[in-house]
Amino acid sequence: MSFFSTRLEFLRTVGNRQRADLLGKELGLFTYGDLIQRYPFRYLDRTQVYRIADLHEDLPMVQVRGVLRGKELIGEGPKQRLVAKIGDGSGELDVVWFKGVKWVQHVAKNNVEYTVFGKPTVFNGRPQMAHPELEETTEAKPGQSFLQPVYNTSEKLKNYHKVDSKAIMRMVGELLKLAGSHIAESLSAELMANYALMPKAQAMQQIHFPQTTELLQAARFRLKFEELFYVQLKLLRQRDQRKAVLAGQIFKEVPTLVDFYQNHLPFDLTGAQKRVIHDIYKDFCTGKQMNRLLQGDVGSGKTIVAFIAMLMAADNGAQSCLMAPTEILADQHFVGLKQYADQLGITLGKLTGSTKPRDRKVLHEGLRDGTLHMLVGTHALLEDVVQFRNLGLTIMDEQHRFGVAQRSKLWQKNPYVIPHVLVMTATPIPRTLAMTLYGDLDVSVIDELPAGRKPIVTVHRYDGNRLKVFEFIRDQVKLGRQVYIVYPLIEESETLDYKDLTDGYESVSRAFPEYQISIVHGRMKAEDKDFEMQRFIRRETQIMVATTVIEVGVNVPNASVLVIESAERFGLSQLHQLRGRVGRGADQSYCILMTGFKLSADARTRLETMVRTNNGFEIADIDLKLRGPGDLMGTQQSGVLDLLIADLAKDGRILTASREAAQAILNADPELLLPANENIRRHIESLPATALNWSRIS
Ligand code: ADP
Ligand code: MG
Repeated sequence: MSFFSTRLEFLRTVGNRQRADLLGKELGLFTYGDLIQRYPFRYLDRTQVYRIADLHEDLPMVQVRGVLRGKELIGEGPKQRLVAKIGDGSGELDVVWFKGVKWVQHVAKNNVEYTVFGKPTVFNGRPQMAHPELEETTEAKPGQSFLQPVYNTSEKLKNYHKVDSKAIMRMVGELLKLAGSHIAESLSAELMANYALMPKAQAMQQIHFPQTTELLQAARFRLKFEELFYVQLKLLRQRDQRKAVLAGQIFKEVPTLVDFYQNHLPFDLTGAQKRVIHDIYKDFCTGKQMNRLLQGDVGSGKTIVAFIAMLMAADNGAQSCLMAPTEILADQHFVGLKQYADQLGITLGKLTGSTKPRDRKVLHEGLRDGTLHMLVGTHALLEDVVQFRNLGLTIMDEQHRFGVAQRSKLWQKNPYVIPHVLVMTATPIPRTLAMTLYGDLDVSVIDELPAGRKPIVTVHRYDGNRLKVFEFIRDQVKLGRQVYIVYPLIEESETLDYKDLTDGYESVSRAFPEYQISIVHGRMKAEDKDFEMQRFIRRETQIMVATTVIEVGVNVPNASVLVIESAERFGLSQLHQLRGRVGRGADQSYCILMTGFKLSADARTRLETMVRTNNGFEIADIDLKLRGPGDLMGTQQSGVLDLLIADLAKDGRILTASREAAQAILNADPELLLPANENIRRHIESLPATALNWSRIS
């Protein structure tokens, strides 16, 4: 058993079994390893001592030093308080307690010098501190910490068991003395030299009891680097091992693709599209299973990339499927791709929830006997009755709507060779997050929009200006364009939202009696939704009043105005996603964010960001900073975000460096067998096989 798995009850400063149990229950601290890795959440700066004469109400928590000159109980019963006077030569400070009066009266002694730490206020013209920390002044010994660590604890521990931040500080102090030689260096000498990292044992000491702010910073850097390094090492190793094990079909021949390029492709591919296609083709030639994430901002042209990948499969005798999260999207893909498929002599089918049983039967047969090359559809693809003769490639569009379980279901559709997987998303995931969430996938990015697109003009308007906005809409419709007006409907059951939407629909109908107006929302039956959507696509209606059901993927190039009502209620990524519904054609497009006057600071930042930039990645980064990683889609269950010290929203650069370092080490030494990497190997071996976070001591 290792030193760090020793249970906390054996620590003298913990004292007994009962307190140890409570530390476990309340704070999740069970072992020495848990305690030493519970880093302070902040530090009190004990380096500066204020003169009492200089205190004023605008100061934060500060420290003064003076002699206790007397104490007095004032008042009766619940209003009773204890006031002590502290003098430092420059003035006198009243220190007041309303609670714990008896105890303070007992421990605070006259004529002793105290260091007092608290928030200064002024009462009756005299400086005052209520419930400050009070400690007998001792001269700081050389090497002693000036920044005092502050630890999280619980009310229960604090109030009934005297386990406050200070008590935890004493436990950590004792533990660090015992731990000495047990703290093994977990990074290689080479890494430490290359990235100027502080040794582990010193970092552990300094993170709890920093001697200077510089040393604290170096300690934090070292521990963050280590944490992120081990996350990346783990992900990259999983990826490499999977690649080593799982075979994939080889798609090397491309005659139909050449035909498509030469004779049918209606536009030039962007450089970014070509790069991604090349990434995919390279994967198809390796004989290993591809697992690739394709990130591309809305409108960047992912669909054609998907189709080209599907052509590569078809050219090599394999079938492929493209799965979309909604029926509308599946339709759109089908309609868009069918013309190409027909030109090329490729068979393409569509399977959704509303496919008639008779058509289904035909599809099933074609898939089983191999005469159907490509299939576009929704979740209906996953059903067990859907069997392929030789499924070689599965593509998922807008992946965040699909779970891992569904992904693996698609894998099983080919019992002989697992199909290649391409996951496409327009949800801008910040690079740092993508590296961690999808660190085991290969990532390709389309970071370029097709030529000739005019950047969408985004403006913010208050509700009071609605008439002007309506005028603008009228002008645009007169020019032959179409308009979306979107209402929040975050919870489809929210009656209020529903009322907003129907009220909105009525007022829009009244304002535009001369135009046809569609309405689409989550409470409608799929057929009705589809019917309305199709009317809009066919330009039979000019204005579409909708909820966020139009958020994902819908492509109506003639729609050039998007009005978002109550825009302050949407998250930043969602606003950006919605905005992607326009700007798909050659005309200038507009996004109008409507709000009331009252806006929170965060809402203001979101609106300003939308007005300022169209860049999905920049928006994703700001979103991450506003919300923190825990709130972002799909991150909660992943476990990889259970970090001790690093912060994905802030430590992007350390993350990038650590990933590069991990990759370089694995490239040179995949099994970590070289003597130079012994520290790393030993560290991983010391962990339980199930450990989620490889940076931890256990
Ligand atoms: P998304 O990446 O959001 O799925 P789509 O694949 O729907 O984007 O493409 C948006 C529009 O851009 C489609 O109408 C598509 O035909 C068009 N498009 C895609 N690539 C190009 C290109 N290289 N040049 C011009 N238009 C393109
Ligand atoms: Mg798309």
